[in-house]
Amino acid sequence: MTLIDGKAVSAAVKERIKKEIEEKGLKIGLAVVIVGNDQASRVYVNNKKKACEFCGITSYEYALPEESTEEQLLKLVDKLNEDGRVNGILVQLPLPKQIDEKKIIERISPEKDVDAFNAVNVGKIMIGNYSFLPCTPAGVMELIKSTGTEISGKECVVIGRSNIVGKPMAMLLLHESATVTICHSKTSNLKDVCSRADILVSAVGKAGFVTADMVKEGAVVIDVGMNRNSEGKLCGDVDFDNVKDKCSFITPVPGGVGPMTIAMLMENTLRAGKLQSL
Ligand code: NAP
Repeated sequence: MTLIDGKAVSAAVKERIKKEIEEKGLKIGLAVVIVGNDQASRVYVNNKKKACEFCGITSYEYALPEESTEEQLLKLVDKLNEDGRVNGILVQLPLPKQIDEKKIIERISPEKDVDAFNAVNVGKIMIGNYSFLPCTPAGVMELIKSTGTEISGKECVVIGRSNIVGKPMAMLLLHESATVTICHSKTSNLKDVCSRADILVSAVGKAGFVTADMVKEGAVVIDVGMNRNSEGKLCGDVDFDNVKDKCSFITPVPGGVGPMTIAMLMENTLRAGKLQSL
């Protein structure tokens, strides 16, 4: 078994972005909007700001109070859509319950939607003609490619069908000519389906969910899950200790998919800046 080092792959992507921005003298800006006091969101936002700093992208932070209204946030998004310094807009989710996330996502200009959650960008991904890839699935693709594994013709199983991970993940694998199965909570023969997979991607959100009997000998296992185990430690969906000896490559949590998500956000922001300057 070989560990897939997400930190190293992510560092290489960020280095490449930094170099391009420096060499071409590009001025790229990312607006990062956070509403409320969610501790996990604060950590994510700080990490995104740090990555911007490393890459030479200017980050503009907008921290709104927990009790902000939908109207206030929509107004801010409108302002950022018009702001020439801002190439990408990231609204950190989840939002407080009085704000409809869908309305906010749809209000972000598709050209600045660096998370690629907006229906226009989702549609473009579906038809394979996209400007931005959603960050987490795009990061997973980079990790799979870093192993040298051929994707074309492989059996790939994605567990999870969320709009931000499972569905776009399946679509990206399909674009690479894999045979893709998407599993979810109503899948009746999950173990059988998963154990067919040459490449197994788990995006469920349950610690210890993927057990060794669900994994084919020699499979590539990608763990998107971010959970806390009974001791409060960060862990993925995969029962790592028992699965690791069965597979050819596996991502650890932490240090696997997580760092890639931020690197791909940087990549999308750079791409947004370049497209807007055309
Ligand atoms: P989500 O919206 O809660 O989706 C979870 C999916 O898992 C759903 O499609 C659900 O099926 C499926 N599921 C739940 N129980 C199942 C079961 N018993 N058998 C089969 N499928 C089952 O979560 P998400 O936003 O996609 O995120 C998934 C995980 O990835 C979370 O741990 C999240 O924290 C993590 N994540 C990590 C990153 C990163 O950067 N590393 C980024 C995003 C998300 P139904 O649709 O049938 O309910």
